[in-house]
Amino acid sequence: MSCPHCGLAAEFHSHREHTSLSLVGPIPYRRCYYLCRTCGKGLFPFDHEAGMTPRHLTPGLERVATLAGAVADSFEKGAELLAEMAGVKLSEATVERTAEDAGHRLADAVAAGRTLGPPVDWPWHKDYEGKTCAYVELDATGVRQQAPGGGVADGRMANVGMVCNPCPEWPWPDEKAGPMQARYLSGLYPLEDFAPLLRAPAGRVGMDRADRWIGLSDGGSGLEGRLRENFPRVEAIILDFFHPAEKLTGLSRLLHPDSEEAAEEQAREWRHLLKGEGGAVLAAVLSEWEWPRRRGLREAAEEIIGYLENNAHRMEYPEYLAKGWCIGSGGVESACKTVVGQRLKLAGMRWGEDGSHSVCHLRALYRSEKGQWEAFWARDFSPN
Ligand SMILES: [Zn+2]
Repeated sequence: MSCPHCGLAAEFHSHREHTSLSLVGPIPYRRCYYLCRTCGKGLFPFDHEAGMTPRHLTPGLERVATLAGAVADSFEKGAELLAEMAGVKLSEATVERTAEDAGHRLADAVAAGRTLGPPVDWPWHKDYEGKTCAYVELDATGVRQQAPGGGVADGRMANVGMVCNPCPEWPWPDEKAGPMQARYLSGLYPLEDFAPLLRAPAGRVGMDRADRWIGLSDGGSGLEGRLRENFPRVEAIILDFFHPAEKLTGLSRLLHPDSEEAAEEQAREWRHLLKGEGGAVLAAVLSEWEWPRRRGLREAAEEIIGYLENNAHRMEYPEYLAKGWCIGSGGVESACKTVVGQRLKLAGMRWGEDGSHSVCHLRALYRSEKGQWEAFWARDFSPN
């Protein structure tokens, strides 16, 4: 047995009693203890080979605890979920540490340009011109941060990227309709480091074989340039419809503070106009609107009008829809919201940088197409 620290021979020392925790309860066993006389470090080769975690969880329990930590609202809720569903009682801290360790393992692989599972050939859907289209999306969203001592730190931007194959509303007769295939990436990277990381998963699903590349973004600064730089074949960059739709909902609530129904009706009308006529027309309509004199309403409207005007060239929705292009997650929710928002941006939440980076990776993996989560636990990484 060679020592993992210095590489020299480590000798068998003794058998030691030990208990690991599994999905079916504690497992007591005797493990061999080896000692390196050169550097004085001890090791347990069995635990290493069996994949026991630093908190003595078996790989099966590690996987379930990581899932609970990533999908529940908090690590505390994750520990409760685990107790409820698997009958395993772990502390909040153990769920947190276990999930974050797994997330860091994933982050290391992502940063090294490795992907999960075998290469695949996505059946890219055709637009109404008969061209197959591959989509790549880049968004960023703020995550409130906590300083190591517990104080408030500057927020950080979490990037969310996605390669996807959405099914058009009216698929061709020879195409199989189905849910959108997507692979997500997310983490607290500087944008210039993050955008290139999307190229590995894009290549892995055969993006090169699509006739057209289409970009989606939230319109944030720098995103469009990074998309073009890393995906030079992108023909158009579309503002994901979700983002203006969400802003319009906010404005309609300010206009109709007393009636949720009237607010929803107004938002629907604006969305309809945006889809049917594009951003420039909606901006003109809102400019002419007779806003009631109410605190903040006019300012909120001005802000959205400016947003529509600045992004009008990415909001030619009638044109995109006529071509059969996907204009984003629209009716449902944005990638930012499902990957990052629903776990990292809940009320009162503050994150450490390390933890949020790790959990962003896990959630992106979990949201990705079927098979990706499984491949991670099977340690089925592409070579780098
Ligand atoms: Zn050694």
